[in-house]
Amino acid sequence: MKLLEFTSNGIYCSKADVYLDPWRGVKKAIITHGHSDHARWGSKSYITQIDNVPILKHRLGDISVSGKKYGDKFQINGVTFSFHPAGHIPGSSQIRVEYKGEVWVFTGDFKTQDDKISTPYEPIKCNTFITECTFGLPVYKWEKPKIVHEQINNWWAENKSNGVTSLLMGYSLGKIQRLLKNLEPEIGKIFTHGATEKMTEVLRSKIDFPKTTLITRDTSKKEIQGNLVLAPPAVLGSAWSRKLGITSTGYASGWMAIRGARRRRAVDRSFVLSDHADWDGLLSAIYSTECENVITTHGYTDIFAKYLNEQGLNALSEKTEYEQETPETENLK
Ligand SMILES: [Zn+2]
Repeated sequence: MKLLEFTSNGIYCSKADVYLDPWRGVKKAIITHGHSDHARWGSKSYITQIDNVPILKHRLGDISVSGKKYGDKFQINGVTFSFHPAGHIPGSSQIRVEYKGEVWVFTGDFKTQDDKISTPYEPIKCNTFITECTFGLPVYKWEKPKIVHEQINNWWAENKSNGVTSLLMGYSLGKIQRLLKNLEPEIGKIFTHGATEKMTEVLRSKIDFPKTTLITRDTSKKEIQGNLVLAPPAVLGSAWSRKLGITSTGYASGWMAIRGARRRRAVDRSFVLSDHADWDGLLSAIYSTECENVITTHGYTDIFAKYLNEQGLNALSEKTEYEQETPETENLK
């Protein structure tokens, strides 16, 4: 029997009778991070990294959840589990599973760049590495984050000097806070959409962010003018965003690297900033685990597994219900 199997409920460890990021409600779920395709409602009990506990409670409501620190080992039926930083978003983890000397690691989502708000990714030695490969094609190669943040601040400063409001969009958990952390508050005021403000408030207990002001019914166009507004991508073209007055729209996502992307065409400025590993990041992560086997779970799974096989690894892809992330599903993150 394999240590972890892919079942209709999710990734299952039968020896411990627990699921990792299950896509249906189960008795016991171990969760990598708070995005909606990995942390689903309906399980009886949840175990996750301690910084992810308030995020899960905010997203899933009144659940039974216990938190563990990075690196702390815990046993279930003789199987040893531990969480290790995935660098994807705050509180995100890889899950290490060990039984009788055999080690499997499940990444959930991860990135190798340091985003200044998440604990940076740590490679974990293992026999089998279960990995995402959202951007598992050689065309995906990320710029240094510092350069992208400079582009964003320059865009904002230029809009400000023209009396134009900057509407900057990204998904609510992780991306928005990464953007916020790197904005230069000297340029102007930072306003937020309700969904953005709530999620940021949850993370403020652990992370220091610049001040934000929630846009309410009483906020006037004049107050906002020339300043920056952070919001989820769903507001694009909505009545809510039209009320902001004259805006320049910007969208931050790894998908902005694709020239024809629909959302890239719909905004004034696109910023290539991803919370997933790029091609080089994926490969360096895989090699640093020194694994023999790789299982790809979501993204360009088949192409990526084929490439790894050609490099002498034993790789295959498995079907999961993690979203094949696209610009359109980012509204859910
Ligand atoms: Zn994610």
